[in-house]
Amino acid sequence: MERGGSPAYVCPDGAHWGQPPPAMTAHSATIDVCIVGAGPAGLNAALVLGRCGRSVVVYDSGQPRNAASQGLRCFLSRDGINPHELRAIGRLEVGAYPSVTFIDAQVVAAKRSPYGFELVTSDGQSRACRILLLATGRVDVLPDRPGFRELYGRGVHHCPYCDGWEHRGQRIVAYGEYPAVADLALALLTWTPRVTVVVPEPGQASADDRRRLGEQRIEVAPADIASVEGTPEGGVTGAQLANGERIACDAVFFTSALPQRSALAENLGCEMDDGGSVVCRAHAATGVPGLYVAGNVRGGVHLAIMAAAEGAEAAIAINEELADNGLNPTEAVRPRQPTSGGDA
Ligand SMILES: Cc1cc2nc3c(=O)[nH]c(=O)nc-3n(C[C@H](O)[C@H](O)[C@H](O)COP(=O)(O)OP(=O)(O)OC[C@H]3O[C@@H](n4cnc5c(N)ncnc54)[C@H](O)[C@@H]3O)c2cc1C
Repeated sequence: MERGGSPAYVCPDGAHWGQPPPAMTAHSATIDVCIVGAGPAGLNAALVLGRCGRSVVVYDSGQPRNAASQGLRCFLSRDGINPHELRAIGRLEVGAYPSVTFIDAQVVAAKRSPYGFELVTSDGQSRACRILLLATGRVDVLPDRPGFRELYGRGVHHCPYCDGWEHRGQRIVAYGEYPAVADLALALLTWTPRVTVVVPEPGQASADDRRRLGEQRIEVAPADIASVEGTPEGGVTGAQLANGERIACDAVFFTSALPQRSALAENLGCEMDDGGSVVCRAHAATGVPGLYVAGNVRGGVHLAIMAAAEGAEAAIAINEELADNGLNPTEAVRPRQPTSGGDA
């Protein structure tokens, strides 16, 4: 669904009122900013840019990272909110700013152009923009075992800060490979002393991993999980191991690879770090001119409130880059001053 009007522009001297500005573009349909991704990062960027009167198109493919979550935590004033509701509220709030348009479509290709960027969506539409913000998020790779997908977001989790409180004092299995599973198990001690590590490849433990777990008297089961057992309501009751043993527990936390949701950043030439995050310079900029990133696309703390903050940071940097290039916002926020006369 698309809404919002076509932008009008004013240059500092007022000479190009209503026309595309001369700097940064020679393309008549070029808008200021395209944002790919309407999660917390993209929505907060759209909010700030909408309040700057920038012409913005926000694309979203409807695949938020936390789709399985029952309640978003650690977000001040919204603790426990359904994540779909948070996004819906965000869209409503951003919708109050007329220069922002939402398009529910996947961006399948993006390339640099003389005037900025050109995007192509899954429905074959193309659009030109001066600045591109990627807020496309990441994907959690779930272990391919019965129970993980079914119970994900209820009794099976990956983030202790998001879901540890709900399982405080309970029996928790930490599942994955070294060294990440040792870090996960130690982190879970904040909420419960009853942590058991289940690790398919115990031989990969370093001396440091063994020492750290040993010091905390954390038990290690050297086996794979065959399945996670639970109730129809989503509670976990146990982990069935591939060696035939069973561990009774109330939750399973796992470590996983965290690939990018979209290949756009890499395809546009962004530098990636060893963890698969886009390397970010000051104020959300990348090494590609005019290309910014916000949210889980980047490394660091992957909480939704951080993603939202990074969206705001990117938006301010983008607005300043546009202003530095002599591009001022729409008439709606920046009405032309009368040249003479008028009320005193
Ligand atoms: C089960 C679970 C529970 C979680 N619980 C919490 C919690 O309690 N508290 C917390 O702070 N965090 C939690 N998180 C983490 C939280 O989901 C992320 O921090 C947050 O969603 C990151 O926001 P984002 O905007 O970067 O990405 P996302 O929210 O993932 O949004 C990215 C958007 O980009 C869109 N997109 C991607 N590629 C394209 C494309 N090519 N074209 C168009 N659109 C595209 C996607 O459809 C998606 O809507 C949880 C995560 C999971 C998996």
